[in-house]
Amino acid sequence: MFRILIVGAGINGVTAAIELKKRGHNVSLIDLGPLPHPLAASTDISKAVRAAYGADEDYTSLAERSIQLWRKWNQEFGIELYHEVHFLFLRQRAMQPGDFEYESFELLKKTGHKVERVDSRVLREQVSWGRFM
Ligand SMILES: Cc1cc2nc3c(=O)[nH]c(=O)nc-3n(C[C@H](O)[C@H](O)[C@H](O)COP(=O)(O)OP(=O)(O)OC[C@H]3O[C@@H](n4cnc5c(N)ncnc54)[C@H](O)[C@@H]3O)c2cc1C
Repeated sequence: MFRILIVGAGINGVTAAIELKKRGHNVSLIDLGPLPHPLAASTDISKAVRAAYGADEDYTSLAERSIQLWRKWNQEFGIELYHEVHFLFLRQRAMQPGDFEYESFELLKKTGHKVERVDSRVLREQVSWGRFM
């Protein structure tokens, strides 16, 4: 067993501390505070987790794994740290093979995600009827 000091309680510091503690080490985690720090890269208000990474299967599967772990944390901590929402990619031109959105769409469809392709007419109708989910 080691005595370990981790400086910085952003996502990397916290996850390292949790894992090292699980492995039986004596871990101290310090931060300038307050926690979560509103200016830390991992805990400011701009963070999103997504699985859309174009044709990159490795990155997509890492994202899928992290989403499962966020859901697990929501349950373990009894608080909704991770909020699941829908999101929309908008393009001015129709998607073509090789485009980020096209490749993301194809890979997400192949890996069983709920993805939907809409055009401006469908989008307008669904938004006006409150049906876009
Ligand atoms: C604007 C922006 C958007 C991003 N969007 C995404 C995204 O959508 N998805 C994604 O996966 N990644 C995103 N990233 C990258 C990701 O946020 C970072 O790679 C990750 O959050 C870094 O985490 P960290 O724990 O290393 O650092 P941080 O979260 O910054 O944590 C560092 C901690 O160290 C503390 N600290 C600093 N100095 C000291 C000190 N001297 N003593 C004690 N404590 C100290 C700070 O208070 C802070 O709490 C984004 C980054 C930025 C800047």
